[in-house]
Amino acid sequence: MDVFDAAESLDRQAIEALQLERLRETLGRVAAVPLYAERLAAANLSAASLRSLADFRRLPFTTKDDLRAAYPSRMLARPMSEMVRVHTSSGTTGTAIAIFHTRNDIAVWADLMARCMHMVGLRSSDVFQNASGYGLFTGGLGIHAGAERLGCCTIPAGAGNTHRQIQLIRDFGVTGLHIIPSYALYLAEALEHEGIDPDALGLRIALIGAEPHSEEVRRRIEAGLGVKAYNSYGLSEMNGPGVAFECVEQAGMHVWEDAFLFEVIDPESGEPVADGEIGELVMTTLMREGMPILRYRTRDLTRILPGPCACGRTHRRIDRITGRADDMLILKGVNIYPMQIEKVLMTFAEIGKNYQIVLEREGVVERIRVRAAVGAEVLKGSAGALEALRRKITAGLHDEILVTPTVELVAETEVPRAEGKARRVVDLRGQ
Ligand code: AMP
Ligand code: ZN
Repeated sequence: MDVFDAAESLDRQAIEALQLERLRETLGRVAAVPLYAERLAAANLSAASLRSLADFRRLPFTTKDDLRAAYPSRMLARPMSEMVRVHTSSGTTGTAIAIFHTRNDIAVWADLMARCMHMVGLRSSDVFQNASGYGLFTGGLGIHAGAERLGCCTIPAGAGNTHRQIQLIRDFGVTGLHIIPSYALYLAEALEHEGIDPDALGLRIALIGAEPHSEEVRRRIEAGLGVKAYNSYGLSEMNGPGVAFECVEQAGMHVWEDAFLFEVIDPESGEPVADGEIGELVMTTLMREGMPILRYRTRDLTRILPGPCACGRTHRRIDRITGRADDMLILKGVNIYPMQIEKVLMTFAEIGKNYQIVLEREGVVERIRVRAAVGAEVLKGSAGALEALRRKITAGLHDEILVTPTVELVAETEVPRAEGKARRVVDLRGQ
């Protein structure tokens, strides 16, 4: 049975009316936040005067720098005594931002998360293991609350300790799993080493997200763990997981438009791009009380997938995240996204789960080196076979990124592995 929440199939007009109503409530709340009070005044906008979504777009974007400047708690719309949780995100650049939640915010988040899980077929009868890090990372408590809200027996396994993960899956008959894609590949490989048939393990569904990954990686995870894997997108600024999620069609992620207003803009001009065109995702919280955020520039690149989804849900879909606006590598004047490289690497069966992209400079010449981990059997093969493989990979990468990388095939242990989100790019050009 696949019942869905009535909110998931509202028609367009009803969704937009609800968004406008919730935007008005949000503008009312942010009047208590000095930064937003100033911006509303400058745009001559208030909860009472907001007539349309177009009016709302007169407000400036909120940036990560705004949130950094507000650290630790200068953007609260309610008294500190009403906050029940804080999460921080340091991103890749270091300076922390903090997001506060009231009791109601946490409940709304859990509902949204449970909706995602229900959408892909998880039910209260499922045993659910959360193999992502807990602590300040929202993939821990965020997913956990959703699974409990759905009624699953939930195992807070946390990240790492692969042997124990496998044991928990077996001992408790785990059917649903949340796991970061780079770690899922690792777990799949561990199963193979231990001679465990993934299909006999009993897992049905994996939720994978929190970091960019290609379709090829999804397919590998599905085969390696014996599951259907669904892409889960979120960011701490918008709660964390539960913002956009794939349905069983696996054709893009539905953004929960009753809880978030989203825009896709040209990162240079700030103007909206046409449906189907890649741009930067901008998001607004529609239900948050404690710390509402307006028109937040996520730096994540994606596009709206036009047209209805076969599942019948009406919330619009976005494509998998191609990368972050600040992830784009510019080498010899060519724009390259790490995901393009991953896509090519993962088409080679010989290449394992791990790789690293190194950017270097020799005098005035910039170079890109791709270090791909291959299994011990491959490294033991003849020098000729290894060289032939290296050439094939080099040619494949050249076709995709238009520059010729230096490809190195290395042992698994030579590529560092992160406990949480993978760090794939090392830029040594400034050194
Ligand atoms: P954090 O708030 O620190 O958990 O990081 C959120 C960021 O993780 C997002 O802005 C994205 O860049 C990335 N992210 C989260 N989920 C996905 C996903 N499913 N695909 C690609 N990137 C993701
Ligand atoms: Zn759908």
